[in-house]
Amino acid sequence: HADVALYQAKARGRNNFQFFDPVMTEAGEQRLMLENDLRKALLRDEFILYYQPRIDLSTGSVTSVEALIRWQHPQRGLLAPNAFIHLAEEIGLIGEIGHWVLNTACRQLRDWRSEGLTDLRMAVNVSARQLHDSAFHCLVEKTLLDAMLPAACLELELTESCVMDNPEKAIVVLNTISRLGVRIAIDDFGTGYSSLAYLKRLPVTCLKIDRAFVQGIPEDAEDVAIAETILSMAKHLGLVVVAEGIETEAQCDFLARRHCKEGQGYWFSRPLPAGDLINFINSTVPT
Ligand code: C2E
Ligand code: MG
Ligand code: MG
Ligand code: MG
Repeated sequence: HADVALYQAKARGRNNFQFFDPVMTEAGEQRLMLENDLRKALLRDEFILYYQPRIDLSTGSVTSVEALIRWQHPQRGLLAPNAFIHLAEEIGLIGEIGHWVLNTACRQLRDWRSEGLTDLRMAVNVSARQLHDSAFHCLVEKTLLDAMLPAACLELELTESCVMDNPEKAIVVLNTISRLGVRIAIDDFGTGYSSLAYLKRLPVTCLKIDRAFVQGIPEDAEDVAIAETILSMAKHLGLVVVAEGIETEAQCDFLARRHCKEGQGYWFSRPLPAGDLINFINSTVPT
């Protein structure tokens, strides 16, 4: 894009520099550089997983952790997924990166479980492109075998849009994966347009209320109504609800009183490097 913009600006002639858009060009150049760096990042071992604890709101204990990718960029520092996951999807790298994430998260979980966190489970985010790969369920099965983990300790998180991208395909793939014993959660629930008819047909066991609705609890009447509706629907469908992005005690209390099973958010802990997780778990005193 950068080259095209430069070429167009030149083609317009020397006196037309006012048409040259330096912002666009710089953005294009930045993107190209990021793309090149991203292609090398796996080989250079620049990705890291952080782990955010998920808390049982009735007991206060850590049930599981969610693996969240970071990119330790040699010049730009630690990058959050929204800085590169979309690009990775666009340029076809998400399959390899997703494989690395799954593998790394499962090995880490095996280590933690053998170090005494015997009931800990792991949640891994999966993007739509990964579901399109018809061998995805084999990859999941093999990764669990290699890490010697029971399937039930792994949960895959998919967004509504990821599933609705190609719902018929998603149903087939997710059924195969769920037959392995792996759990399926719908991430950012409430933000996409999800068809309840499809929800019924998907082998989903868990809904994660998007933090956009948790934010306004308990003051905002609409957020409260949305959260209560999701909780009530989930109860009738026999689904576990996890509230994302709990930042205050008031949010935590409100959700716990309404029997929201689990919660995640800065109120409990930010995502942590692997080495800090055990300390966090040891410091939590279950009620
Ligand atoms: P997500 O799966 O919905 O993850 C929750 C995001 O909310 C994380 O951002 C987490 O750090 C952040 N968060 C947690 N608690 C709080 C809170 O109390 N307040 C606020 N403001 N934020 C909170 P993060 O790590 O930047 O990840 C963003 C998104 O990137 C994730 O959203 C997920 O969709 C995607 N992602 C992360 N890791 C992976 C991965 O390995 N593969 C794929 N495909 N996507 C990933
Ligand atoms: Mg997630
Ligand atoms: Mg989410
Ligand atoms: Mg999200």
